[in-house]
Amino acid sequence: MDNGSKEKYLDLNLFRGLGEDPVYHPPVLTDRPRDWPLDKWAEAPRDLGYSDFSRYQWRGLRMLKDPETQAALHDLVWEVRPRTIIELGVYGGGSLVWFRDIAKLMGLDTRVIGLDRNLSRCQIPAEERENISLHEADCDDLASFEVLRDAVHPILFIDDAHANTFNVMRWAVENLLTPGDYFIIEDMIPYWSRYAPKLLSQYLATFRDELTMDMVYANTSPQLDRGVFRRS
Ligand code: SAH
Repeated sequence: MDNGSKEKYLDLNLFRGLGEDPVYHPPVLTDRPRDWPLDKWAEAPRDLGYSDFSRYQWRGLRMLKDPETQAALHDLVWEVRPRTIIELGVYGGGSLVWFRDIAKLMGLDTRVIGLDRNLSRCQIPAEERENISLHEADCDDLASFEVLRDAVHPILFIDDAHANTFNVMRWAVENLLTPGDYFIIEDMIPYWSRYAPKLLSQYLATFRDELTMDMVYANTSPQLDRGVFRRS
């Protein structure tokens, strides 16, 4: 093996939290029949028999938000009634369609904006793009966020790309968010509070004059754990 070469193996870190496949596939049971005989009811396995996370979907599109997170975000959308929902990290696009659909069901006039540096994995069919805008943007290049400038308030801004997060949050606070808007860091706080607790506290403290943590939502699900912030 040629040491240091990137050709031999893909970097599996890229798939962290994503899986290899942006397309939703219904669960397939490989170690048990789907039709379990009732005369053997007591012997049936009690586990799922398939990976739960890769199965979460909205109308056939993978959605990387578990049911607890969906419930909390539903409540937040209902409460805030956002006119714009921005999500960094599109992947298959299921969460964008879900946000658009629940906002519409609530009678809200909401535009959903998805930013990703790689939109090639987005599975949203062309006829499902009403009120959804997709932009190629890179969290490491904040100039590519300029497309967000005209976003209508209230805004829910969700970081689900996990890159350059605190600089992105600083940009959002200084250029976009007004009182009542939200910035949400999904997934990462538990890792950072384990591996870099001092830097995490220090970085969050630099936002003390601009953001507070909303304690109604901060403990609602592991994916939102202590990462729901409101512009003050
Ligand atoms: N929000 C989606 C999942 C997003 S997965 C859902 O809930 O279903 C994370 C996405 O972040 C991937 O599509 C990846 O391409 C994107 N991403 C990773 N690094 C990025 C960066 N630096 N800039 C923009 N997008 C990035």
